[in-house]
Amino acid sequence: MSAIEESDLRHLANLHVRDIITLVAVVMKVKAVAGQLVVPLDVKEWFERFCDKNRLIHFEEGPSDSYQTWMTVCYNEETAKLKRELDKIRSSFDNIKRNPIISSGKRAYNEFVKALTMLGGTMYGYPECCIEFHAEKGSSSRTRAYEQFLDSGKDQSIPIEFWSVSHAPCSSTCRRTLELGKKYLGAVAEFSESLKKHVESRLLLPRFYQTGGGRFIDIQPLDYNQHKKELTISKEEFEKDAQSHLPQSIEIVLCDVPRPYVLVEVPEKPPYKAAFPNPDMIGTMWFAYTPGFGAYMVNAKTGNIALYIVIDQWIVEVGEEWRSKSNFRICRSTKTNKI
Ligand SMILES: [Zn+2]
Repeated sequence: MSAIEESDLRHLANLHVRDIITLVAVVMKVKAVAGQLVVPLDVKEWFERFCDKNRLIHFEEGPSDSYQTWMTVCYNEETAKLKRELDKIRSSFDNIKRNPIISSGKRAYNEFVKALTMLGGTMYGYPECCIEFHAEKGSSSRTRAYEQFLDSGKDQSIPIEFWSVSHAPCSSTCRRTLELGKKYLGAVAEFSESLKKHVESRLLLPRFYQTGGGRFIDIQPLDYNQHKKELTISKEEFEKDAQSHLPQSIEIVLCDVPRPYVLVEVPEKPPYKAAFPNPDMIGTMWFAYTPGFGAYMVNAKTGNIALYIVIDQWIVEVGEEWRSKSNFRICRSTKTNKI
């Protein structure tokens, strides 16, 4: 591999850590396709140049908003073609699934959609056990692994490899998931030692799990006394504010949020604010949460609300199946030599 340009490393750091890993895994040819990479609009041009330079096929997948867009990268034309074809078939099926014309063939339809999910998972290079579990149980099965971590008391020492993959692991102990994470991290190290250091430091940050899917917020706790001069909201003010938004047993932390990660978009219902990443959510935050119940986050420098969601004001578009005792909790990660 040729020497990596300093400016590429700087720009790469603008992506979420999981997106950095999957992108580099495609560059290093250990992964064929990386989908739904969230690219901030101010680095989009660089992103496209970086893909061209590394001879990757790239295209926008949408939906874009005023801050970011969703991109897919493939390591060659054949995989790009397969990805496009699969998406096309899937969306045709999604469009007609409620049409009575297919109700008589419901079983065939379900089997075919399952087969499409499995084919897609194979194209992304996910482990077979995880693909099968996902195809069988649906997207919300993603919560199972987090619940298992919580039940086994391992949620404060999750191996960083677990956070290095983009699929939904079939369980908290899925061996093949951890091995795949290790392979991707190895590719990042081969690509650039300094990028590896950056990636590892991000993976080791405490991670707030909001609800279902991929709604995580990485947080870097900050020392209040060291930072209080830069803040417009004092600890006392925020504590009072948080108490009026959340029930007791609130945990409060002053932190830096580098870049939240999200797989789904949902509309907001004021006073609740749930959409992220949003620019108010990046930077120095006062963050309060009641474990298992809800979260309230305010930008400590601007005073803007960054996130407000509680379990009894559930987002309509996020179904009941996503409810989980593992929601609204902080997980911690660890580096281990055992994988
Ligand atoms: Zn698995």
